[in-house]
Formats: sequence, structure tokens, C-alpha cells
Amino acid sequence: MRFTVAPIAAAAFLACLPPADNVHRYEEPIVCINFDDCFESIHSFAFPCMQSTDTTWAATHFVPVTFVGSPGMVTLDELKEMEAKGWETAGHAFTHAALSALPLDSVEYQVKASYDFLLKNNLHHTTFAYPGGNYTAEDETIASRWFLNIRTAHDLLYTDGINRKELGYFAVKGGHSVDDLVARVERARSLGAPLVIIGFHAVLPDSVLSFPAYWCKESVFSGFMRYLKDQELPVMTIEKAMNILVGDHHAP
Ligand SMILES: [Zn+2]
Repeated sequence: MRFTVAPIAAAAFLACLPPADNVHRYEEPIVCINFDDCFESIHSFAFPCMQSTDTTWAATHFVPVTFVGSPGMVTLDELKEMEAKGWETAGHAFTHAALSALPLDSVEYQVKASYDFLLKNNLHHTTFAYPGGNYTAEDETIASRWFLNIRTAHDLLYTDGINRKELGYFAVKGGHSVDDLVARVERARSLGAPLVIIGFHAVLPDSVLSFPAYWCKESVFSGFMRYLKDQELPVMTIEKAMNILVGDHHAP
């Protein structure tokens, strides 16, 4: 992997960052692969696919607490197996409830229970995503008390800087081709963006007939991995990317 120390004054897109004195950035956008919602195929297909492409790559996996170990979902042991290979488990509330529809004491419970689950099980516990992307300013204040990095469902370009409390992602859907995913990364490259986050849910055989709204064909996922490898793009967790791009702050 290649990275350089970016002169802070010259890096216009870093203008919104806190006054870090050791900001690094890669020559290419950092690519963060995200998975949401604990689908079994994340462990059975996507994890070994990424490992077989490059053993140094790791993804960030957002897990609602009550989904872990449910039928068809990733188990706690599998989360730990993926963490042992560098994966970052991340908060996604307790029951995947839409936070914006809840009273604030329930939001607090959803977020804190998510944090407590991760901490209790010795999993990563610095990153959180709003279930369904639904949140209010008050929800953000609450989530920020427990998590250092927060992902929304907006697809952001980061050309004006990175706010680690308002990250976004490109959500992959069943109709997307490898070319669609490649085009999103190439857009980030052409803009000189420091970061691009690509998010998956289930990754299923191309022949599947019944599927959730957000899913990705196995051939599309593996084809996208080959593209990232061929292009030698840096692939890492959100936690690592934020440590490089924004600074290595300790969790609250
Ligand atoms: Zn979700």
C-alpha cells in the first residue's frame, strides 16, 4: 500500500477536519467495504471471498444486537472469527428500530445497548450506523456520546472534508452490476476524494429467486473485489480509515 503525508494547507478537501497535526492520506481514495444487518452470507460468502482476494483486507459489519445468532444470521462466534482477521464489528442499534420514530429515552437505550453488547463481547465498538438511515439531530447527539464514528445512509463524496459523525455510503442493490460499483469508485478517484464507502447487505447466488431488497449477486461482489485488487486500492475498516484520515482519537 502507498500513502503519503498530505501537507495540510495544500489539501483543500481536508479543510473541515479538526486541526490534526499528523493527517495522512493515500494517493487513492480509501475504500471501506461495509456490511449491514448480520446476514449469514456475510460470513459464509463475503468474508472468505475478501480473504481469498487479499488477506490484509477487512470490512466493517453493522450488527443489530437482536439479529446476532438468529436463524439465517451471523453468530457471535462468527463475528469473533471475522474480528480475528481484522474485521470491525459496529453498532446498528439493539433491534434495528428506526431511531427517528422513537422517544429520546428509547433512542438512548437502543444506542447504549448496542455499545454495551460490543464492549461486553470484546468486539470493536467505535462505529455506529443508523438503522434504515433514519435519524434526527437529537439522535446524532445521543449516538455521538457512545460512538466515535457514525454512518448515515447518504452517499457522500467527501470532497469538502470528512465529518466522522456523518459518514455515508453507496448502498448496493440487487440490480447493480460490477460496472455500477466500479463507476462509484472511479468517480471518487476522478474527484480526488479521500474516501469511498460501499455498503452491502446479503450476498446471494446469482440464481436466487427470493431475496431482500438490498442484496448483491455473488458474481458482482467477487468481480468488484477483483477490480479493487487489480487497481491496488487501499481497503480497510471505517475505524482504520478514520484513524488515518481524521486522527486517532480514543473512543468516548
Ligand atoms: Zn440495517
